[in-house]
Amino acid sequence: MSFRTLGLDEKILQAVQEAGYTEPTPIQTAAIPPIIAGHDLIGIAQTGTGKTAAFTLPMLTKLAAQPGGPRNSTRVLIIAPTRELVVQIDENVRAYGKHLHLTVATVFGGVGEHPQIRALNSNTDVIIACPGRLIDLMNRRNGNFSGLQFLVLDEADRMLDMGFLPSIRQIVRQMPQKRQTLMFSATLSKEIEQLTHEFQRAPKIVQIGRRANPAETVTQLVYEVPKHLKPALLLHLLRDPQMDMVLVFSRMKHSADRIARNLEFKGIKTATLHSNRSQNQRLKALKDFKSGAVRVLVATDIAARGIDVDGISHVVNYDFPMHVEDYVHRIGRTGRANAIGDAISFVTNEDHGELRALERFIGRGIVRKRAEGFDYNAAGPAQTESSRDDERRPRQQRPQPRGHGHSSPQRPTMSVGAQQGGQRSSAGRSYGQRSFRPR
Ligand code: AMP
Repeated sequence: MSFRTLGLDEKILQAVQEAGYTEPTPIQTAAIPPIIAGHDLIGIAQTGTGKTAAFTLPMLTKLAAQPGGPRNSTRVLIIAPTRELVVQIDENVRAYGKHLHLTVATVFGGVGEHPQIRALNSNTDVIIACPGRLIDLMNRRNGNFSGLQFLVLDEADRMLDMGFLPSIRQIVRQMPQKRQTLMFSATLSKEIEQLTHEFQRAPKIVQIGRRANPAETVTQLVYEVPKHLKPALLLHLLRDPQMDMVLVFSRMKHSADRIARNLEFKGIKTATLHSNRSQNQRLKALKDFKSGAVRVLVATDIAARGIDVDGISHVVNYDFPMHVEDYVHRIGRTGRANAIGDAISFVTNEDHGELRALERFIGRGIVRKRAEGFDYNAAGPAQTESSRDDERRPRQQRPQPRGHGHSSPQRPTMSVGAQQGGQRSSAGRSYGQRSFRPR
């Protein structure tokens, strides 16, 4: 399959070629023709599948077909949950639209609003925005969407999890009825279906891969490790020079800072990405990681959501993820667009129940590995960051492991909540009966 068969504009094909893409990904093959044909679309695709290009390329093709001259409205509004994702979509739009004469701007919190107000009021062709800042500025009578042609809701499931629904409703109410609405989500939940009824007209559904199935190209490994040895094990693994671009996930912001300090202390260049950091610090951390100025980026789930960095060699789940979907998103950071990557999870005794639940969810067992040459009998620090974090978790609500053997894969597509009668919430599927920490 070639991009040529999809009906894209010549200038966009040229930009795609310059981006180095030789053939469309499955979501692109499936989504581009119906969008060009004018349909609303729901794209169910996990991260790393090429979904940004799947919605951007056809929209730009349609904009390219329109005559030039002064505009009297913004034509495309893309809404996404995090600033990092907004910045990334902006980079994509600029790259794919580089041979068109389009104006593009971003709108998100944590930075000065004046340039954003100017962009909203100057009929910028493409606006990419986080819902909170956008509705704030729209409520102050900024923006002109009277001629809007495309509304995109990216990572809609995560926007719901983050409580953005009221803002999104307010924004959509102010958009013209006649428009094309594209919605992308990692999962097709009841809540997402409800949104499509509200915002879309007879949408085509494009679903790529099994629901919440981690990218097939990622090699997944589990290292069982006593809690107090996690810092030492991370250092030990990082002796491998192949781990040259490593994204480490921690559950807590302060724990992320401490992991980074430990690594820096051992001479490993490290940056952190979490919501206590300023917007500029977050952008710098990403930039340094992308450029190779730092080898390790330690991040929390929300901060890392949607970040797109080429060439991540390894993802390390230093702390086991709270939600099965977080695992899918975390490991989707590596193995992107078919590069081979490794996802490593540290699993302590207390994580075994959750690990088994995860394996049922993803429909396969994850290989256990012992770190060669690592001293599993070493005494660790008296109290490590991970032990302190765990103390914050409500112990009485922790799932009880039901045995100690390694589980084998079972029933591929059924969710954990359905199998175990565990709670479900808009915050994601639980591991059995444990409670949710609010996001
Ligand atoms: P996304 O799922 O939109 O975050 O994209 C994941 C990564 O795949 C990004 O780094 C894109 O630049 C890259 N990508 C998108 N489409 C293609 C393609 N057809 N061929 C190769 N890489 C692609």
